[in-house]
Amino acid sequence: MTASGSDDLILAEVTRVRGVVQGVGFRPFVFRIAKENGVTGWVLNDSAGVCIHAEGTATALADFSRGLRELAPPAARIDGIHTEVAEPSGFADFRIADSMESPATSAGISPDLAVCDDCLADLFDASDRRARYPYINCTACGPRYSIILGLPYDRHSTTMAKWTMCDDCSREYEDPSNRRFHAQPVACERCGPGYVLREDLTGGPDGAAAIEAAVAMLADGKIVAIKGIGGYHLACDAGNPDAVGALRERKFRKERPFALMVRDIDTARRTVELSSEGETLLTSVARPILVAPALVALAGVAPGIRELGVMLPYAPLHHLLFAEGAPGRLVMTSANRSSEPIAYRDDEAFRQLSGIADAFLTGERPIARRVDDSVVKVGAAGTTVLRRSRGYAPGTVAKLPSSRPVLALGADLKNTVTLVVSGNAIMSQHIGDLENYPALEAFRETVADLTAMYDVDSDELTIVHDLHPAYWSTGFALESRCAERRGVQHHRAHVASVLAERGDFEERVIGVALDGTGYGDDGAIWGGEFFAGSIVEGLDRVGHLRPARLPGGDAAARYPVQSAAGFLCDPDIGPIPDLAGAPFHFPVRYAQARELAMRDVRCFPTTSAGRLFDAAAALLGFTREVTYEGQAAIWLEQLAITGSGEEAYPCPFTNGELDFRPALLAVIEARKRGDPGSDIARAFHRGLARGIAGGIIALANQHGTNTAVLSGGVFQNDVLLREVMDCVSSKSIRVWTNRTVPPNDGGISLGQAALAFGVGGFS
Ligand code: ZN
Ligand code: ZN
Ligand code: FE
Repeated sequence: MTASGSDDLILAEVTRVRGVVQGVGFRPFVFRIAKENGVTGWVLNDSAGVCIHAEGTATALADFSRGLRELAPPAARIDGIHTEVAEPSGFADFRIADSMESPATSAGISPDLAVCDDCLADLFDASDRRARYPYINCTACGPRYSIILGLPYDRHSTTMAKWTMCDDCSREYEDPSNRRFHAQPVACERCGPGYVLREDLTGGPDGAAAIEAAVAMLADGKIVAIKGIGGYHLACDAGNPDAVGALRERKFRKERPFALMVRDIDTARRTVELSSEGETLLTSVARPILVAPALVALAGVAPGIRELGVMLPYAPLHHLLFAEGAPGRLVMTSANRSSEPIAYRDDEAFRQLSGIADAFLTGERPIARRVDDSVVKVGAAGTTVLRRSRGYAPGTVAKLPSSRPVLALGADLKNTVTLVVSGNAIMSQHIGDLENYPALEAFRETVADLTAMYDVDSDELTIVHDLHPAYWSTGFALESRCAERRGVQHHRAHVASVLAERGDFEERVIGVALDGTGYGDDGAIWGGEFFAGSIVEGLDRVGHLRPARLPGGDAAARYPVQSAAGFLCDPDIGPIPDLAGAPFHFPVRYAQARELAMRDVRCFPTTSAGRLFDAAAALLGFTREVTYEGQAAIWLEQLAITGSGEEAYPCPFTNGELDFRPALLAVIEARKRGDPGSDIARAFHRGLARGIAGGIIALANQHGTNTAVLSGGVFQNDVLLREVMDCVSSKSIRVWTNRTVPPNDGGISLGQAALAFGVGGFS
């Protein structure tokens, strides 16, 4: 290859490409650049990724190789390219060979992709044979993870296996110059699955008539269950308060915000305040729900919250519904009862949703596994993923220096699991709260799915779990076959999740994990924790919120006044007024809880920041039961957003302890004085943030670092996060937060996986 005169010499090389290269149009892309450069040979999918045998002149091979690296399709992600010289075989052309199953399964599985612009153009081109066909797709778009039954990714191992392609579809599938060349879910009206609208189990209109009828029902204020990519949604007109009210009533969902799907980006701009970063997220191929400040009032959609969660249509069906005249803002909420996972099987949906939905718009293509919509937000620290699911999962979220497989099982709330194979930490979709049986079932299925797809040998597997002895995930770990088991403390996992996604294993940091609950080293309910250390050397607990008593333990999370009783019974707090009277009006539950707290009966020690927020919210008027997790704290944050004034209630950090007492007393005094609730909420946030920042600064000096890591669900509070960041950055301390995985318990599994390699050393 050195002499230029040798350019008529035919050389050969074999290239292996690893990463997300299956189901993203990679082989057709290889085919095209081979043709363009006069290269012959073949390309195939194997379990490790894509393998290419290329023959041509040195110049042709060099151009081919450059194209391979630089022009890969947008949905592909190349993790590694390895090329070896091979023996030329004299191929006359270039072809796409059949898949080969190889033992080392490490090919990345592509997440589901939103319908692309080319397919949308076909969808609305009356002369196209797929005009108005709701299952249109190509190699650049369409379902992937939600239809895969096994690897390698080929039609026969997807839920499309039972539909035989018609001649036209076959021709496109076989034609390397076609956009649908080897697009596994390719289909058309004639040969593929369709949609039916059912008001009862006897059937109803299908095809275009089904969509028209569904649109008419939506416009008429009815609730329609719509089968999408990763499960069913319940949809209704978001601008119709009666429809939204009926949905809340039937779904037993009192106040938790509903997500919206809006017609197009213009409608999105009129619905929420869109930053350019927000717009990029909203229109990305993952099409997540973006939470942003509301510009419109939609009764009942997000009660008491100044934000709305919006997403754009992502399945062809969604576009058809809007084109057919569906209301421009639809409530599109995961179809389930309260906090169960999204329904995805037809029989399950009919069973669970009869009595909620007035009709079912049901597609025939089966969904292989449930994948909820993802949720993202742009806040003080940039983009934060609040729920990592459709469009992102499964995906490599970090690289860990490990050759052995590791399965980290996460926490029991907002569960995700992370599987580490060949050093890639692959995080599952959002699974949900494992105390619900369907979520527990989904958890087991997901573990089975991922370990099977990546061909994990249980005799080599390390399983990592939370320390909580009563977690379902812990029980599952204890009864699973594996080579080794490790427990990792919840809040250390939060901090490690940030370090792992950045790939900083040795960086010494001060880590702060604030959340509602997690099992501590001492069995107490932790949730306001300061650590010093790194992933490699381990994280030492070097500070915490002042311990309080929590009457009723974790059950207190439902009643903010119960938390108030616990935090206010501190022996040294000083006199507390009678909170049953004006202006507090605490219900009798408070007096009962206070009685228990004073006698230390049925009380649990806690350092939970989440419960401290609950206590403050109760003092500012949130004295009822919460109807969803974190509601009181969100209510307090919403109040603080409009607060003014420069006051900060004292919340000093001394000798490793963050003392909440003066801050709570200041809240009580201000409320008695009649200060505006929003100002009080603001001053509470600011005081707590300064206390946390003070702790970080002191500990950073003491431990010789200038890096702070913030994680845990409480840091989803943007008022608090912004204030802490402002305070510490003025002291030249840099702040790291989660970017790829959620700061809430959805990110725990990554931190667990990373810490499994801590202290004991990497393997
Ligand atoms: Zn497409
Ligand atoms: Zn067809
Ligand atoms: Fe947590």
